[in-house]
Amino acid sequence: MSAAPASFYRRTADALADARLRGAVGRVTASVRRSRQAALDRLPDADAWRDHARQLRAHTIAHLDRYLDELTSAIEARGGHVFYAPTAEDAIAYVTDLARSRHLKTAVKSKSMISEEIDLNARLEAAGVRVVETDLGEYVVQLAADHPSHIVMPIIHKTRGEVADLFRAKAGATDADLADVASMTQFARRTLRPEFLRADLGVSGVNFGVASTGTLCICTNEGNGRLVTTLPRVHVAMMGIERLVPTPEDLTVMLQILGRSATGQNLTVYTNLINGPRPDDESDGPSELHVVLVDNGRSRVLGSELAEILYCIRCGACLNACPVYQEIGGHAYGSVYPGPFGSVLTPALRGLEAFHDLPHASSLCGACRDACPVRIDIPRMLLALRADDAKAHHAPWWIAAGLRVFRWVAVNPRRFQTAGRLTAKLMHATSRNGWIRWLPPPLSGWTSTRDFPVMAVESFQERWARRSKLPEQKPS
Ligand code: SF4
Repeated sequence: MSAAPASFYRRTADALADARLRGAVGRVTASVRRSRQAALDRLPDADAWRDHARQLRAHTIAHLDRYLDELTSAIEARGGHVFYAPTAEDAIAYVTDLARSRHLKTAVKSKSMISEEIDLNARLEAAGVRVVETDLGEYVVQLAADHPSHIVMPIIHKTRGEVADLFRAKAGATDADLADVASMTQFARRTLRPEFLRADLGVSGVNFGVASTGTLCICTNEGNGRLVTTLPRVHVAMMGIERLVPTPEDLTVMLQILGRSATGQNLTVYTNLINGPRPDDESDGPSELHVVLVDNGRSRVLGSELAEILYCIRCGACLNACPVYQEIGGHAYGSVYPGPFGSVLTPALRGLEAFHDLPHASSLCGACRDACPVRIDIPRMLLALRADDAKAHHAPWWIAAGLRVFRWVAVNPRRFQTAGRLTAKLMHATSRNGWIRWLPPPLSGWTSTRDFPVMAVESFQERWARRSKLPEQKPS
């Protein structure tokens, strides 16, 4: 699921220094935020849809064992195979064993965050299976040997020029192929089309599994999902165990809000409903369907104070809304799940020890909660993780020491007032036009990117006392 963020602050500093990255991420997220708002405005009673969707997610997660059993029975009744993978290694072993036993040599993939989470591509390649990403953004990521930086828009961090250079260097594109975005898309289409025909394994993600019918819903905007799930003779669908809805009616509720929240569309262009492998009397579709239900830490999160994060439908709206994500992009988080929801999900799945910086990568402004179509209270969980982090003493010694000193000052009114008075005087002596431009380490973390306002010379309590002594003013 990507490396532990040993150098989280280093990566953040690099991202903040990269004006091109900040420009690209800022422009795209602003545009998608506007589209999302317009799409929700077009939906009558959008708030009621969101409330309903939240209730559905809460109900499903509360009864996950029952719905997983239902889904499994329904898929098997239609001739599919279901494998429950407790860990990433179990999921990888199942898919690689399958490839070996069926002599599968080429896999085409549609977008799947769960396969990113378990690093499936590298393991399939190691097992002798050539893997070709067919989502346009993921194809670019693969060519660049890069990682997605957004769960819906994997190459939000790249400019058109960078993609053109990549196509020329790695895929043999000509100037004519790179004339404009449409030509580049056509080039990718021509390059990928033979891969679909050649592949014997198709690997997809799953947006929603419908428990009562065993239907797999896969939403894409490029049509590659249909080719991945119909042309190769074996289809492997990877899904997190939480990605369920009870019934087809419930699916329609989720679809009302997914496309709108993710890309500002009423509905994604291709909404595929897969109901098992090819029947014997038909010639189209895979002869084998394998659904891999990946747990990888999710059942540990169930019942914990972080269980609400399992309501997530991976729309990406909280990333686009987050002022921190807008500035640093996705790679700085050091996880395939960046942004506000990733700052909860990553420590929840992988442990706080390795990812204790992530809950602090938030201003707690609440924009993520407001944007979330299922109203997940991300700030609440970030605070809970911060509290756990403090208990585990992950903070640097100087923060812990500084907080102890602050507590000693803050619990005593006289000490607090004296400290405030001295600090205000010191600030005024070193400020220019009411702002401080430089502070010594560790406070330089603030002034390296913005000025610090000076404190008022007169404290609130002093002002209150002074005003209380003034004669009451009568209205004229
Ligand atoms: S937490 Fe909410 S807004 Fe963020 S990706 Fe998940 S569903 Fe979308």
